[in-house]
Amino acid sequence: MTRLSASGELGLLAELERRGLIVGVEHDAALLGDDLVVTQDALVEGVHFRFDWLGWRDLGFRAAAVNLSDLAASGATPEALLVTLAAPATTETADVVALYEGIAETGVPVVGGDTTSAGVVVISITALGRSERVPGRGGARPGDVLVVTGPLGAAGAAFRGGGYARPPLRIEEGRALARHAHALLDISDGLAVDAAHMARRSGVRIELELDDVPLAPGATIDDLGFGEDFELLAAVADAAGRPVIGRVVPGEGIGVSRGGEPYPLAGWEHFR
Ligand SMILES: [Mg+2]
Repeated sequence: MTRLSASGELGLLAELERRGLIVGVEHDAALLGDDLVVTQDALVEGVHFRFDWLGWRDLGFRAAAVNLSDLAASGATPEALLVTLAAPATTETADVVALYEGIAETGVPVVGGDTTSAGVVVISITALGRSERVPGRGGARPGDVLVVTGPLGAAGAAFRGGGYARPPLRIEEGRALARHAHALLDISDGLAVDAAHMARRSGVRIELELDDVPLAPGATIDDLGFGEDFELLAAVADAAGRPVIGRVVPGEGIGVSRGGEPYPLAGWEHFR
């Protein structure tokens, strides 16, 4: 067996999936029964955030929002959060209160969780919601267009400036798109990487045109490769007025172009 630095996050998940130890991991969230949607994400100090760039309240909001983004990508209405916080014993109580105030800004109640001591701050949130229809990532069809729910690049632009952008909450948009989208996910790993997930799971090719991507203030085309924008990306038959940034064609993989010419757009993968 290789080390995680060689296999990468996707390689690790593929190995666990091959052994039957995990199932359905490439979905934004797990669907249990007819309508229960569950997702979990952890933020680790020094890996996902640093306190000289992010305050406790913003950390709380962010930790909740990245999970609510996966519920939005499942067309789900959030119902509850479970919060696990690991922190050094020297942490100020007021800072932890601020963290929970940031979580509360999302309007979704915290109904349980755990706290433990640790060498660095780790916050892991489980979000639970209900959805009438979860499109998933595997249903994109040739002839579909790709749409996004808002401008991209804010996270990359903020990071270049030594900070973090507040993730958007796209719950309403997710519910609306989930009713008719053939495939739906949230952009967390980078536009090209997430589009490639959709293409692979759908057995199609996706052509992206970067000049058509709405950019957040201060963002450049290369910020689209950074990820963490947490806007939704959907393959739909009808754009219904949303910005069209690409199209689905027969084949495999993705094509990224700018002004019709191929363009190299980077992505992000954990452990590598
Ligand atoms: Mg996701």
